[in-house]
Amino acid sequence: MTEVARTREAFRQALGRARAKGDRVGFVPTMGALHSGHLQLAREAKRRAPYTAFSIFVNPTQFGPNEDLGRYPRDLEGDLRKCASVGVDLVFAPDASEMYPAGDATRVRVGALSEALCGPFRAGHFEGVATVVAKLFALAAPCLAVFGRKDYQQLRVIERMARDLLFDVEVVGVPTVRDDDGLAMSSRNAYLSPEERVRARSIPLGLGKAWSAFASGERRAGVLRSLALREVLPAATRVDYVTIADPDTLATIDDDAVISKPALVALAIWIEKTRLIDNLVLGEDPSPLAQDREGPSAT
Ligand code: AMP
Repeated sequence: MTEVARTREAFRQALGRARAKGDRVGFVPTMGALHSGHLQLAREAKRRAPYTAFSIFVNPTQFGPNEDLGRYPRDLEGDLRKCASVGVDLVFAPDASEMYPAGDATRVRVGALSEALCGPFRAGHFEGVATVVAKLFALAAPCLAVFGRKDYQQLRVIERMARDLLFDVEVVGVPTVRDDDGLAMSSRNAYLSPEERVRARSIPLGLGKAWSAFASGERRAGVLRSLALREVLPAATRVDYVTIADPDTLATIDDDAVISKPALVALAIWIEKTRLIDNLVLGEDPSPLAQDREGPSAT
């Protein structure tokens, strides 16, 4: 049975009871509208810690004024069923007033990692993310906290925040879960019309092109970048960025550079009114495309 906590106090008490039994807590923060990617994080948490807690909270401070806070998909009943199906022990589903008490004025700002990649396109986004995750860690620590590599920049920002603010939290990253055609699962995929969903396929195709070239020895950053860009450009309404970057610092690697270690290829594009992000670390992550992963058949 999955227990539901609606208040900070109920969340703390439930975690306290688990710890009193000697159980380590695995914690998975989410915004709900759960899909197989989120459930993979649950499985990873359960593998590493006997007691698993989810939070489901659409965090208003990480949305810009013209972003999709109002229409972000919400389905608490369905989410609770999914949590129960993978054995999540506790779901924390607070109201905004629980997370942002009246008069709330404190924000957490993580330096350069927040300013790379999505930073210039989503002013205040990572400040909102770091702030709400710091609040969640203040309630849930000590714990192991599981995040997806789908949001690679977010993972790096949270790792740094947890370290700098001395939280007793071990941050773990989980590989991106993809649909059969390679598109990364995302709650925002629900916005796509059937025609837009077809266009979104250009994202894994572009990343797959860069992956294959890297696997064949291509190390020129500009060539790898343009292979991905060439796929997404005709499908996108707008391209925010397609960037090759250092996977640790997220600093951009210039087109004329030659790569000598694993490199992040990250992108954000718009398909009509939906902004989609994706990434992979060349030299570390598998291809987003099943055909590259499976290799030649054994017949
Ligand atoms: P969200 O609810 O979209 O804020 O995501 C909550 C957590 O799930 C974050 O750590 C995400 O990185 C992770 N996540 C979302 N989509 C995926 C995916 N397709 N594969 C793996 N993790 C994911």
